[in-house]
Amino acid sequence: METPIKMEAAAIMARSDGYRTKGRQLILSYLEATKERTVSVSEIQEFMEQQGNPVNVSTIYRNLDALVAQGKVMKFVADKGDKSTYRYIEPEHDCHKHLHIQCVKCGKVIHLECDFMRSIEKHVLEEHGISLLCENSILYGVCQGCKST
Ligand SMILES: [Zn+2]
Ligand SMILES: [Zn+2]
Repeated sequence: METPIKMEAAAIMARSDGYRTKGRQLILSYLEATKERTVSVSEIQEFMEQQGNPVNVSTIYRNLDALVAQGKVMKFVADKGDKSTYRYIEPEHDCHKHLHIQCVKCGKVIHLECDFMRSIEKHVLEEHGISLLCENSILYGVCQGCKST
């Protein structure tokens, strides 16, 4: 009578798989809706609770790690290393190839998709011997909208 047990196990795995996928999709849809800015893990957790799908922090991290590995989400490592933030990668932007600058007032992220990126990369590499990792770097500033208020 081995077969029914195996089937049961497969059914449980399929269920938990479905659950995991649903949670991941919710996280991704939240990140897509907030793609203008970076979000923290606690914001994601709050959103999941609002959606009636509460998950613990380690599950969120696991899902985020998977989304980062899939190239769907970009992770920004904060100064002190304790609070990384995440942002949805828009397929139309080549976000791995340029830096981003974030407004410290409204949190909006601007893509630095201009020619000067190549000069920075070249300079940093040739003069300082460092290969720039756009991936985990973010610059801070104040955007036009926030400056005028
Ligand atoms: Zn970008
Ligand atoms: Zn702003």
